[in-house]
Amino acid sequence: MTSAPGTAGTVVVVEDDPSIAELVDLYLRREGYRVLRASDGDTGLGIIYRERPRVVILDVGLPGSKDGYDVCRAIRADSDVPVLFLTARDDEIDRVLGLELGADDYLTKPFSPRELVARVRAVLRRTDGPKQAQSLAVGDIEIDPARREVRVSGELTELTTREFDLLAHMVENQGLVLTRQQLLNGAWGADWCGDERTVDVHVAQLRKKLGPSLPLSTLRGVGYRLA
Ligand code: CA
Repeated sequence: MTSAPGTAGTVVVVEDDPSIAELVDLYLRREGYRVLRASDGDTGLGIIYRERPRVVILDVGLPGSKDGYDVCRAIRADSDVPVLFLTARDDEIDRVLGLELGADDYLTKPFSPRELVARVRAVLRRTDGPKQAQSLAVGDIEIDPARREVRVSGELTELTTREFDLLAHMVENQGLVLTRQQLLNGAWGADWCGDERTVDVHVAQLRKKLGPSLPLSTLRGVGYRLA
């Protein structure tokens, strides 16, 4: 099955072997994924933080200061994005499985592109299902997107449309650090004209209305995180 380009979501591939990266890229693009490539860990992390992909495909042996294990640990510090490791040797497999890295799956080189595509789909099926349902609540706060209702400890709380959209977007992305620009675009759409300070104003309103039930941290100079 072939989908329209990019519609299946973004995959970041961190792999220094150009022939493998090219192959992975080709097959995933054919499946409708938007593929972004990096050949070292730091570049890969930059892309992952910026693009918030649906899946990360990560080679263990990478040049530079960070190998695949380091990259995975750094990803896990702020994201649940599924990580699929590419391993070349038995001792790498042992470490991927043995260390508590939070890897979702691995493939041993050489692998068939078909198997890679199947693994990516399987990882997405496993990780997408339950998370959607969970993402509608944080702490005492429950969100009903169909009715656009918010309850705090079971009590209905009135929010404006903008406040609701902002809260829903933060709850869907809970655990992730979101910049003001990401909140602006994610909650109200990229074409919505507004200043980043608009986000601060609405966040202040949400804090006022939801009180200590809203577990939102401000990361100075970065943005916000709901945890
Ligand atoms: Ca490598």
